[in-house]
Amino acid sequence: MAAKVAKGKTETYEIECPSCKTTKYRNPQMKLMVNECGHALCDDCVKTIFVKESGQCPECDMIIKRAKFRVQIFEDPLVEKEIDIRRKVGRIHNKIEDDFSKVEEYDDYLEMIEDLVYCLTYDQNKAETERKLESYERIHREEIKKNSHRKSAADEELDKIIEEEKLKYLQRLQEQRKEMEKTKQNSSSNRNTSLLKDLMASDGDASLIVQSHAKRLKMEKEGEEQEEILAKIEAATAGKNPKEFSSGVRIGVFGGAGKGDSAVAALMMQATDYEYESPVLSDRLPLPEWNDLQSAGYLAHVRQPGPAAHAGGYTEHYACMRALHEFMASHILHC
Ligand SMILES: [Zn+2]
Ligand SMILES: [Zn+2]
Repeated sequence: MAAKVAKGKTETYEIECPSCKTTKYRNPQMKLMVNECGHALCDDCVKTIFVKESGQCPECDMIIKRAKFRVQIFEDPLVEKEIDIRRKVGRIHNKIEDDFSKVEEYDDYLEMIEDLVYCLTYDQNKAETERKLESYERIHREEIKKNSHRKSAADEELDKIIEEEKLKYLQRLQEQRKEMEKTKQNSSSNRNTSLLKDLMASDGDASLIVQSHAKRLKMEKEGEEQEEILAKIEAATAGKNPKEFSSGVRIGVFGGAGKGDSAVAALMMQATDYEYESPVLSDRLPLPEWNDLQSAGYLAHVRQPGPAAHAGGYTEHYACMRALHEFMASHILHC
């Protein structure tokens, strides 16, 4: 049987935490975690919202346990929920084709399973469906137990889908890592010369420039620590053999509905929290007034526009002010 698992089409950089709206584009280290209700949260939000053992999902208010968050490997968190439900339903309705004398009966059986999965995934008649499932389990306990050692085609299909998705997830991690490696190489070669250059080129306060470099170095150091965590996740996930997947709840090292404290989730919790420090604003570099640009000699350093540009209303003040604003902005941000 082909499990009907929908696949998301979101680009990696568009992935967004529904709670704090952080995107992968703005924070490449962001990881989306998912819980049993199928709603995603970034790892930072999990840490902030779930300070205690359990709490309410911000999306659906369901009470969920912090330990049950796991890294979302499918781009669509609803698929994660569907996988868990398929596992659960498959453990109870665990017949295989050989159990049916007619192929039509087997088809009806599969259709009934699809209905159950649909209702539970999309919360349609959820309470009634769960009751139906529980009563079937109670009545057929012996039969379910007897059949539980067999692996159904649906189980194998699920294992395959998860395995493929896990590989794709690892590829995305590796690409991200390569990108970070490249940025790191560029920044470390620039790092040594840039302090000297800045000191030579600027008339500003030397202590402010040194301070800004120290801050940048600190940020780069934090980036490297994040990278180490990423490497640990890769090491924890890459070495696992696909055959270790069972038809049970546990989905490899990513954990499952019944196995919350996955290796990946545990590693994520080791990241240090971001601490906000107010920027040091320089009061020694006042921005000159528009009308003083000429008299103070600023305009002498800007290319003079031709008569055509003047006719259009342009004056060299614009270019001069823009350059000054850019300088001030970068100076403030780097302090
Ligand atoms: Zn978030
Ligand atoms: Zn939820």
